[in-house]
This record gives sequence, C-alpha cells and structure tokens, in this order.
Amino acid sequence: MKTTTLHVDRRVLEKYNQPGPRYTSYPTAPHFTGDFDAQSFIREMEASNRPGTEMSDVSLYFHFPFCHSLCYFCACNMVITHNMERVERYVRYLKKEIELIASHIHPDRRVVQMHWGGGTPTYLTPEQSRSVFEHIRNHFNFAADAEISIEIDPRTIRDDHLSVLRESGFNRVSFGVQDFNPRVQKEVNRIQTYEQNAFVIEESRRLKFDSVNVDLMYGLPHQTEASYKETLDQIIAFSPDRLAVFNYAHVPWLKKHQAILPEAAMPGTRERLGILKLAIEELTAAGYVYIGMDHFARPEDELSVALAGRTLHRNFQGYSTRADSEIYAMGVSSISQLKNAYAQNLKSIKEYERRLDEGLPATQIGVRLTPEDQLRRYVINEIMCNNRLLKADVEERFQLDFDRHFEAVLPELDVFVEDGLLSVHTDRLEVPDAGRLVVRNIAMVFDAYLKEDMRKPNPTYSRTV
Ligand code: SF4
Repeated sequence: MKTTTLHVDRRVLEKYNQPGPRYTSYPTAPHFTGDFDAQSFIREMEASNRPGTEMSDVSLYFHFPFCHSLCYFCACNMVITHNMERVERYVRYLKKEIELIASHIHPDRRVVQMHWGGGTPTYLTPEQSRSVFEHIRNHFNFAADAEISIEIDPRTIRDDHLSVLRESGFNRVSFGVQDFNPRVQKEVNRIQTYEQNAFVIEESRRLKFDSVNVDLMYGLPHQTEASYKETLDQIIAFSPDRLAVFNYAHVPWLKKHQAILPEAAMPGTRERLGILKLAIEELTAAGYVYIGMDHFARPEDELSVALAGRTLHRNFQGYSTRADSEIYAMGVSSISQLKNAYAQNLKSIKEYERRLDEGLPATQIGVRLTPEDQLRRYVINEIMCNNRLLKADVEERFQLDFDRHFEAVLPELDVFVEDGLLSVHTDRLEVPDAGRLVVRNIAMVFDAYLKEDMRKPNPTYSRTV
C-alpha cells in the first residue's frame, strides 16, 4: 500500500475536539446492564453454536489483571500484587472458565485469533503461561495461521520469557512505552529504560515474531511537542510493525490513583493537539499508514492491507482484520462480542471465582442487540474503519431505504461536508483523508443513544481527538 504524509489541520482538531465514544462496541459499554446475566449469555452462546446455523470463526481474549507496580495514568482493570499464590489461584479459575465456555462452543469452529491482555499477562511465569496455553489448545480448535498475541512488560520479563512464549505458539507481541522522557517516566511511576525496550524489540525479531506493536501515550505531565518529538524519533528508529498513540484520559473520579498526577504539569488542549498533529505527521512521513483513531501500521502489515481492501473492523482490542469472528472473552472484566450480544465478566476476582464455583459463566452485565442496534453498528463500523458507506449495501443487508431511515439525522452531516471532511453522494458517504481525523464525530451522528448520554452530569466519554 502506498504511504503519504498526512497533513493535519490544527483548526479541524480544535473544532471537533469534543467528548465521544471510541466505538469499540455499539451500543457502547455504558449501555450494558445487569438485565443481561449469565443465563442470557448461555442463551446467546447456544444460539450462535446451534448445529445447522451459520457459524463464524472464533476470536479468544484472556484477561490477566495482575501488575507489579502502579502506573499512575492506568485506566485498566488491574490488581497490584506481589503474591504469586493469588496468581496461581487465578490461573486455576481461568482454566475452569475455559472448560465451561469451550463446552458451549461447537468443536468445528476455528479459532483464528487469540489475545492475552491485562494487567500484565507476563506476570505469569513462562511455565504458567505455557500451561494455560496448553489448556486452551486442548479445548479449542486453532487454525494453523491463527494470529496469537500477548501484551508484555519489558520491565519485568525474564530473559527466556519471549522464547518460551514463541515456542508455545505466540506470534505477535505488544508492549507499552508511553514516553521515553525520564522526567515523564518518573512522574507517572513507570521507569522503563531504553535498553529494556531495545531488548524486547531485538529479541522479538530474533525469535521471528510476525509483528511487534508499541503503545505510546500523550497528555501526560511534562510532555511538550519538543519532548514528544524525541520520543517519536526514538520509536521510529526501533521501527515497530504497529504503533498506537493513545490520548491520556484523566478521569480521577473513576480512577482514584490518577489524582496523584499533577494536573498543572499536563499539556493544555493546544499543546495536546499539537502533539497529536506531530505524531500523525511524523509517523506517516516515516512510512507508517494511518489506520484510524490512534493506530498506525507499516504498509505491508495486515491492518494496512485490510484498510486498503475496506475489510477492517473494530472490537475491544481496537482495529481488527478478522471481521466476522465472534469474540469469546475470559478472565475478570473481559468483554465477549457475539453475533447478537455483548457480555462483560465480573470485575471482582472474588465474585468471579464464586460464580465459576456455581458452574455458571462469570457474566456481570451485557446487552442484546436489537435489529436497529445491528443496523447502526454496521453503519458506524463502515465509517470508522472503511471510510465509506455504500447505501445500497446497507439497504440490502437491512431491508430499508437508507435516506428515509436516517432522514432526521442526515442534515447533521452538513457541517462535515462544508469543512471538506465528508462527501455525501446519492449512493454513498465517503470520508476523504482530511476527514479521517474526525471519523468518531461523523459516526456519532448515527448513534441513537448519544444525545441522552451527553445529558449525564459526569462525562461518559473522553474527547474525540
Ligand atoms: S502495567 Fe499496564 S495495566 Fe499495569 S498498572 Fe501499568 S499501565 Fe496499568
């Protein structure tokens, strides 16, 4: 795929910088409720796995919540501990959950993707990881070319950790750097040396992992455009296959430890937008393809190929090339995405264990999609991932007249058209390069729940750009 430097108009970023969902699901997570329980999840799994129905491939997600120390910016569901017995116990329960969920999945269904996230999945010793993976393999049917990825922590892995993971079958690694600047690292309590990062990159290449992903973050204390440029230069020199550049969401009312971070030292809106502009322009100039939202990939990467072929999809792990697979997620707080439903597991480890002792899925909340949700999920996905929406395609899939169905909201697209961020044709909507920075805003027009969400007192969503 051809790469071109994407030039960012700062005024567009400023104008469209408003709170909005990231659309890793639709309906979004705030619409999951306790009305959807373990029995509802069982019913959905049965419906998806009934012999005679059309069965898609399967993606698996596993959540490992443990971490050695607290990064003050963290928004993940994690537990800081130094007690390996807790980890051993969690592994036992996770294996129980694997058996339970696998018993509902038709044995012919192929696993085409698996991801271990956290927390810190490499908190498990290499031996524990191997044992969990073997258990998974014994209960699921993996495709030979399955994409198998894991998040690692370069600060705490053993020297042989990556080679054991590679031997077990992992073929992709991902790790967070956030920022190379020592002052930023100290303030956020995540000291990660250049050597630790270099070791992971070099070792992954030596072991022939198919892909290395690195996460950066902007909006942290003491970051400036100048300091961030140094971080970008260093990361470009490492040349990872994929990069994510996340916007730090400061929500101390939800994540109390974030209050430790000095707000006065955080970059203001102008500086933040400047950093974002810099990141997009530097990375695309260095040959990365801007996939969308916060993601970049090398031109030969599957994500770039899927973007060019308009087959990209979004799920809870971000962008995905496995559009049609259902996600079965295990471990505390993990979210499954089935054909007609989302289901999130209990967040408390104690309650998670209690539920599995009862022999039931650990579902806490979820939502079953209505036909209208299905339609809007499709429309939002096309805009967010594929930058184009063919009206005839929507009409054929959902048996309706597009213009008539969305009559009430279509005028809300005019502002994007006037700013050159969208073109509306009789047969399609098309997002040009300039509009790709605001796809979230365009997608928001088709979100049936958003107006009500925005009336709530505390912001439900972070800013869009
Ligand atoms: S290692 Fe990751 S999950 Fe753990 S505290 Fe740091 S950011 Fe959060």
